[in-house]
Amino acid sequence: ELLNVLKDSQESGKSAMKQDWSGEDFPWSSKVREILTQFNISDFRTLQLESINTVLSGFDLLLVMPTGGGKSLCYQIPALIKTGFCLVVSPLISLMEDQTLSLLSLGINAKLLSSDISRVETNSIYKLLSNPSSTLKFLFVTPERICKSKKFVSCLEKAHENSLLSLIVIDEVHCTSQWGHDFRPDYKKLCIFKLQFSSVPILGLTATATAQVLHDVQDILRLSSPLVYRSGFNRPNLFFEVRIKAELFRDQVAALVNLINREFSGTSGIIYCISKKDCEYLTTQLAENRLSVACYHAGVPMARRNEVHHSWLRGDVLIVVSTVAFGLGIDKKDVRFVIHHSFPKSIANYYQECGRAGRDGKPARCVLFFRPQDYFPHSSMVMTEKIGIRNLNAITRYCLDGSTCRRVLIAKHFNESFSTEECNTMCDNCLILQDILPDCPGHNTDTIVEHIYNSLFTLLESASVRKERLTAAKLLTLWKKEYKLQSREVSNFACMCIILQGLIDNIIREDYHFTPYNTISYIVAGPCASRLLKNPSTIPELRINNMEVRNMHHYKITQLIDFKFAKFNSSPLLNSKLNETKDDLVLTVDS
Ligand code: ADP
Ligand code: MG
Ligand code: ZN
Repeated sequence: ELLNVLKDSQESGKSAMKQDWSGEDFPWSSKVREILTQFNISDFRTLQLESINTVLSGFDLLLVMPTGGGKSLCYQIPALIKTGFCLVVSPLISLMEDQTLSLLSLGINAKLLSSDISRVETNSIYKLLSNPSSTLKFLFVTPERICKSKKFVSCLEKAHENSLLSLIVIDEVHCTSQWGHDFRPDYKKLCIFKLQFSSVPILGLTATATAQVLHDVQDILRLSSPLVYRSGFNRPNLFFEVRIKAELFRDQVAALVNLINREFSGTSGIIYCISKKDCEYLTTQLAENRLSVACYHAGVPMARRNEVHHSWLRGDVLIVVSTVAFGLGIDKKDVRFVIHHSFPKSIANYYQECGRAGRDGKPARCVLFFRPQDYFPHSSMVMTEKIGIRNLNAITRYCLDGSTCRRVLIAKHFNESFSTEECNTMCDNCLILQDILPDCPGHNTDTIVEHIYNSLFTLLESASVRKERLTAAKLLTLWKKEYKLQSREVSNFACMCIILQGLIDNIIREDYHFTPYNTISYIVAGPCASRLLKNPSTIPELRINNMEVRNMHHYKITQLIDFKFAKFNSSPLLNSKLNETKDDLVLTVDS
């Protein structure tokens, strides 16, 4: 019998695929339009109507749409059409507060079950759930509530018995999977939804998920044959660039102040740092330079965090300097820049963080400040997780690549296809290769990589004979001294890039040593070293020359990018061109 049920659901899954979900001849279609105008929205964006029709037809759906794409509407409209209430599970209280308030302001009954509200209030909400005459339409909860409160789950059961649980929404559904970039153990327990409320459709929402993550999510949540809609990852209005980060903190602060004053004056933005300490320090320095900044990280008291969030939303504070704690689900439309003061730990993280810029569709910038040394604090943090190192290496490769379109690199990571022309020179590599590098001397000269690696190995070998351990910094100093790289005009920056490239290609590797206080990483020859030495022609192509040219002409390059962007900003032509760019959205259905 079970097999039959399974077969049935697969059959219906198949017929679901054939159906045209974008139609407006469903029994509920006129009602859908009516509600849309109540939301003051004139038309659907890509995949919204398809998602609404799918959910209202009772299918489980995983919807992948960029941040700001309009995922909320895809559950709000179905919930308003169905009887009963919609349960929304979301990881962040502040985000749910915003959602609840905006629904209340439209006269829609929405409640948030947070740990802040009193027991009496909680109980009165619990009672509402199974009351057929209640007007409750949305109930927002954290995943912990589902996992930790038996009472709540039994109230849901009662509601379900009374046919009042109309729809279950799981926001940031990628948190379910360990392969995702925000794994939260509590999300795993959400499998109880399909086990206990099998007839209630589930809608999972996320902005970033690889096919592997979606598969995992599907397994864990026990969705037998969900539909999967994925809109193209491309955000045509974002300009992506990687800049070289100054060696000294002082110089980097000056570069930031300069950039912000000249390019982003009077506009809102976010600066991401990796540590709380960096956040605090950078905030102080920027404030001393009279920039409107506030600091946000997990160590800041909750009340203050909310205050920062809200004054930033209002525009009283322009720049939030934060760790990744700031972000999940931020809804501010006019964020003009997202700066990464240090490089993030994966491409998925990076892309999601950048996604917070330019949600109004106008041009916005994503500037990643890259300094090879920043790799090491990251790697010693994630070294025990294979996936962690793999992710870190992928973002490092992204930073080191001085010639491939950034969008092509990102698309490759998400297994999407994308061609360089579609970028519209909205990334540094496209712009530099087309407009800047050709004018720079030394641009096309041969690389000297072979020789450089040989010298590196010789150094590592003699160090190991001497039983001396070399950190990356020490290796760099020795290398430069012994081989007079200085005179060959190979900069510290380029040498460090070569070391990193060697690490991610397994030519050299890190050897970790643990002290009671920290983890020290030493560099030793890697698994691919001997093969490489025997056969130097197999040395992976290094784009050190490109890096070196970029390094030498850094000032000129950044100036030209800023100049070009200033022109973009003031050109109505480009704005209309951006709007015209076909959103590049595709509809895929997973079988
Ligand atoms: P996501 O959850 O995908 O990041 P939201 O659902 O928060 O995005 O929507 C982002 C913004 O876009 C919201 O302010 C919302 O009101 C707006 N929005 C959603 N759908 C439409 C639409 N069809 N037309 C215009 N604005 C929309
Ligand atoms: Mg959202
Ligand atoms: Zn590009």
